Amino acid sequence: MPTARPLPPGHSHSRWAVLVLAASLASLAGCDRSQGPDPTLVEYIDTLAAVDAHAHPMAWVAPGQPPDTDFDALPLSGIPGFQVPVGLRPDNPAYRIAQEALYHIDPTDTGSVYVEALDSARSATLKEKGTGFASWALDRAYIRYMLANRIAMGSGLPASRFGWIPFEDALMLPLDIRREAARTPDTQALYPLEAKLLARYLRDLGLTRIPSTLRGYERDVVAATLKKQKDAGAVGLKFEAAYLRSLDFEPADSGVAAAIYARYARGGVPTHQEYTTLENHLFRVIARDAGSLGLTIQIHVTEGFGSYYSERGSSPLLLESVFDDPSLRSTNFVITHGGWPRVRETLTLLNKPNVYTDISMMDLLAEPRMLVDALRLWLGEWPGKVLFGTDAFDGGAAQGWEQVAWVASRNARRALSVALDGMVDDGEITPARAREIARMVMRENALRAYHLSLP
Ligand SMILES: [Zn+2]
Repeated sequence: MPTARPLPPGHSHSRWAVLVLAASLASLAGCDRSQGPDPTLVEYIDTLAAVDAHAHPMAWVAPGQPPDTDFDALPLSGIPGFQVPVGLRPDNPAYRIAQEALYHIDPTDTGSVYVEALDSARSATLKEKGTGFASWALDRAYIRYMLANRIAMGSGLPASRFGWIPFEDALMLPLDIRREAARTPDTQALYPLEAKLLARYLRDLGLTRIPSTLRGYERDVVAATLKKQKDAGAVGLKFEAAYLRSLDFEPADSGVAAAIYARYARGGVPTHQEYTTLENHLFRVIARDAGSLGLTIQIHVTEGFGSYYSERGSSPLLLESVFDDPSLRSTNFVITHGGWPRVRETLTLLNKPNVYTDISMMDLLAEPRMLVDALRLWLGEWPGKVLFGTDAFDGGAAQGWEQVAWVASRNARRALSVALDGMVDDGEITPARAREIARMVMRENALRAYHLSLP
């Protein structure tokens, strides 16, 4: 998730502690489903070396150097202030638990004592680990390999531990974006970031402006950029389109799209309908090229963020016509964040052979029982389609990306333990199968979905 803004105080208890305690009490009381999470299964899952299928790790920045700005194509710091769910707020107690585990911060510290202790412990660790900080953070969360959603990779993110997922929305937006941007106060801030990114992609290709024909654009900009990214180590691609527009990329007539492109390639502002037609066409062009390069596509599908974010426009089912396009069947798609909270819609799409989902961010914001329920819903039918992910983002010293990764990893593993343990208790699977599914979710499904073999 893009970086959020500071928020009002949230709640003050660890929701996970309550769920695990409830399971233990049920066990003590000899209730139905009385086993609680089997401690050997919990321990097994807690220490599985995972593949994190979606995150925003920060690059190492030497003292005195400018800050890392490549961690997201659409950082939300420029849009009007907005609220985020309690699980994402920096004052959530979960981050204090991470700070105790990672930096030995006394959980009873408060006020300036706490702030100074955290600042100095974290700075000392950053200094001591240096370019090894990010790999250290992965080790602490039992993450073997992390897919890094970044504009570009950076120092301290070695290919042995991090796979690159660049952003492609900008490639759908070659024409003047002013009318699209004017739609909401959020989009006013976000579209210019895409225009800036496209300019960077053009510069990287040695171009000063877009070609005059759509055919030329598809070849010399779209295909050339994807090829360049693949050659530079990309293992997948990311779309954040739901922050900009509805996810219904309906089929578009290529002749009509070409005419729209030609009309405005050298100036002028397309109508919303014209731009939508061109975007719909280009989305599928990018997806087709991605498939031929073996690059899996991540699509942001969830309930936010921003106070003008279109919830109706980010429904998983809107993607069905893309998933059902026969020419895109060799492109793998991942519905990131599980399409949360529309997990039942996501379920209906997992029967498409090339569609997967990940639990990134769900393991930070979803109510714990609901995350367990979502896992059981999906794993009962499609155990090969569900991927672990954290969405680790950087929210400053008190919510560093390394802490977010730690929290999400812990939450995800606990939910998976409770879900699989329940499936064993209910006689759906054997204990051995539970461990097998745990390995699939934490690691193997991601390797298959992204055509990866670990370095
Ligand atoms: Zn993200």
